[in-house]
Amino acid sequence: MKIICIGRNYVEHAKELNNPLPEVPIFFLKPETALLQKNQPFFYPEFSKEIHYETEVVLKIKKVGKHIEEKFAHTYFDEIGLGIDLTARDLQSICKKKGLPWEIAKGFDGSAPLGKFIDKSRLSDINNLKFSLKVNGEIRQDGNTKDMIFSFDKIIAYVSQFLSLKIGDLIFTGTPEGVGPIKIDDHFEAFIGDEKMLDIMIK
Ligand code: MG
Repeated sequence: MKIICIGRNYVEHAKELNNPLPEVPIFFLKPETALLQKNQPFFYPEFSKEIHYETEVVLKIKKVGKHIEEKFAHTYFDEIGLGIDLTARDLQSICKKKGLPWEIAKGFDGSAPLGKFIDKSRLSDINNLKFSLKVNGEIRQDGNTKDMIFSFDKIIAYVSQFLSLKIGDLIFTGTPEGVGPIKIDDHFEAFIGDEKMLDIMIK
């Protein structure tokens, strides 16, 4: 199982980090050991002083595919959830400056908290899906998938040119604006519409 993450897929988020807008999807991987499930707490690691939350819609791949055509991409997933792409922003800034890979900033243990999934048939339009993050009861991120630069189908078509998709693979589809630092004792709750999908504590 692999975790594929799309970067800079929302214009306002790319701007808030002073990143140029991508012409094709940017992706990177997190290892399976990054997964944090069942609302388990995240323990703040010693190697970073600035870990940011990035709330993202997550697709769960349901069949094997390679070179998937955009028009068939929707048949490769039924379930949609929310995850948080935890990012050691201080380490990532160093990596970016030096032109190094991002793994130490993105792939560390517990860096992919993942909530429950719901079947996409329950959602009226997955390309116009509101989702949000509350930190300590206050809304910090408020996104809509209609603002994605690359749609779910485009992402699947693009990524599958390079990587075979397998059953159970996860695709984090990018974060809207409003990212910020996490602190010990923070309480994170993420929602699709009004439905709570994820609830974790930082320890
Ligand atoms: Mg992200």
